[in-house]
Amino acid sequence: MAHENEKIWFDGKLLPAKDAQVSVLTHALHYGTAVFEGIRAYQCPDGSSAVFRLNDHVKRLLNSAKILGFSIPHSHEELCKAIVDTLKANKLAEGYIRPLSFVGAGNLGVWPGKNPINTIIAVWSWGAYLGPEALERGIRVRTSSFTRSNVNGMMSKAKAAGNYVNSVLAKNEAVQDGYDEAIMLDTNGFVSEATGENFFIVRNGLIKTTPLTSVLDGITRDSILKIAADMGYTVVEQLFTRDEVYIADEAFFSGTAAEVTPIREVDNRTIGEGKAGPVAKALQAAFFKAAKGQDPRYAKWLTHYSF
Ligand SMILES: *Cc1c(COP(=O)(O)O)cnc(C)c1O
Repeated sequence: MAHENEKIWFDGKLLPAKDAQVSVLTHALHYGTAVFEGIRAYQCPDGSSAVFRLNDHVKRLLNSAKILGFSIPHSHEELCKAIVDTLKANKLAEGYIRPLSFVGAGNLGVWPGKNPINTIIAVWSWGAYLGPEALERGIRVRTSSFTRSNVNGMMSKAKAAGNYVNSVLAKNEAVQDGYDEAIMLDTNGFVSEATGENFFIVRNGLIKTTPLTSVLDGITRDSILKIAADMGYTVVEQLFTRDEVYIADEAFFSGTAAEVTPIREVDNRTIGEGKAGPVAKALQAAFFKAAKGQDPRYAKWLTHYSF
């Protein structure tokens, strides 16, 4: 995580982390009125560094704010440049990037009124999100007792802080019960997504993921859909049920933090052979090649930088 001497971009200025402060009367702290991104930068074998799908992440940040009904007072170009500047200022060759825009201090009623919209960008080095062994061996997950929010309750296309209360409930329950992660069902009982990852199964050679109903339009999900199609797999976006997960040959998560994480067990039922499956492994390898600039077909996804 960010240490106090690291530089944080705060409304246009790079400040030492200890000086990047807000009021305890910040609207977002009381009501969850914040939108954010999780982005990764990778060090490429040629020594350069590259931010993965920077434009798409910044576009989603601006759209998340639009869904919540506020507008971030910085342009797309300005935010892209700010992210690269923050990486350079912290001399971070590889790591995680967290832009966050939030309704600031002012009116403390529910109506955000004319409160300022503040934006920060923090960066830190971050290894495998679900632990070093997860990417290799696969993880154990449970179906959450918490339902993914109704599509007309929380806005699932917004990566909004408030939506994450649902995720924290599910994650805590899973970890307390000894699992690595939770899968949530939608309000109709179909499989939705995890607490911060999209979900895929592989069954009889077909790759399936939940359509963009109750799930976030994940950029890793989109990358996997493209990479899998380019590799010749058949991929469908289709609702599926919990029992279909139990009899899947493979299951895996996708997400910026989790990258491509295989799943070896769901609700105490072994998935496939109880280890990372061959399709998940092949997609994981292809994803890392794309993200590290080793596959020219996906060079357009990378923003290179050096310092
Ligand atoms: C961020 C997030 C994901 C993954 O999206 P990526 O763009 O791949 O990082 C999936 N689900 C939820 C709820 C998320 O917040």
